[in-house]
Amino acid sequence: MTSSLFQPEFAYSAAPQRVVFASGAQTQVAAEIANLGRSRALVLTTPEQAAAGQSLLAAVGGAGAGHFAGATMHTPVEVTERALAVLQDLQADCLVAIGGGSTTGLSKALALRTGLPQIVIPTSFAGSEATPILGQTEAGRKTTLTDPRVRPTVILYDATLVRSLPPHLVVSSGMNAIAHAVEGLYARDRNPISSLMALEGIRALAHALPNLTSGTGQDHDWGEALYGAWLCGTVLGQVGMALHHKLCHALGGGFNLPHAETHAVILPHAVAYIEPAVPDLLRPVAAIFGTATAYEGLSAFAARIGAPRRLSDLGLTEANLPRALDLATANPYWNPRPIEREAIAALLARALAGDPPQP
Ligand code: NAD
Repeated sequence: MTSSLFQPEFAYSAAPQRVVFASGAQTQVAAEIANLGRSRALVLTTPEQAAAGQSLLAAVGGAGAGHFAGATMHTPVEVTERALAVLQDLQADCLVAIGGGSTTGLSKALALRTGLPQIVIPTSFAGSEATPILGQTEAGRKTTLTDPRVRPTVILYDATLVRSLPPHLVVSSGMNAIAHAVEGLYARDRNPISSLMALEGIRALAHALPNLTSGTGQDHDWGEALYGAWLCGTVLGQVGMALHHKLCHALGGGFNLPHAETHAVILPHAVAYIEPAVPDLLRPVAAIFGTATAYEGLSAFAARIGAPRRLSDLGLTEANLPRALDLATANPYWNPRPIEREAIAALLARALAGDPPQP
């Protein structure tokens, strides 16, 4: 018999958040706005998803105040300030974001500045909607804060709205979500609830993503992937992240590598590094993938769904490696295995070239 996830000592704080899974969630937005006691929603999207924003604005009828379609990657403060001016002009009293992590980021940045409630309709698997975390950039510098005021009040998940996600983002934002859950399993502040959410989140994505990437995905599969993304995002919002996230932040911040794709390349390598220190905690992940170790399971899964394998394909070069190593090993996050510079150098070299991960 396998043991439970019980830990003799742990702390768990549940955050208030309403989560709704529904087909045609868009038609429920007006009722959710009314539930919040609000009546003038500012709809947020990226320029690429402006049409989805317009259709949402039409769907909420009289409860819609306007639409700002300027959300962009890394939540630049100047974009937030432009959106804030629009919000104030329109006298909006709540925010409705429809899009991926970048649009959710803008919504959170506006909530931080105004205290307005947010309804988020996620259309990718980034999971930001489930966290109280906000990353912002100003003059090219990224800062991250954790504040309960940025946690969305309501999340509406609608499988039919995520079907338009470009195939490369299905893969990489799915791997990004799995990474949150995997790191949650060995977090120093993990608890049985975060661990069961992490395992269920990985299970849901491991089941759904191959159907989505093979083109046979039905609404059920898209919904199951969103369910996994929600669970994985919730884990990210609850517990601390370790080496994998440190490597991704160093590479993303230092060399402007794309966020989700970098997660997809690094995850099997980071887990191979960490797994010998916490084999018991990662055994359930190996069991989900039916492999001897979690890192082999993640590596085979990444290959199966066509995830990017080489940092060189994302723009990193061999000449960047020494600086990448410095960034990756400076101010390390807590990690189950101590950060050994030589081993991290070898890990980065393997990830650059697309060589198999090694413990
Ligand atoms: P994204 O939001 O930048 O989206 C990428 C592009 O895909 C955009 O043009 C977007 O409009 C488009 N898109 C998204 N969903 C679509 C759909 N269903 N159909 C068509 N186009 C669609 O990418 P992402 O991977 O969702 O989010 C990444 C960002 O989220 C990063 O900046 C990352 O830092 C942030 N993030 C934050 C947290 C947090 O807790 N703060 C967690 C995870 C990710």
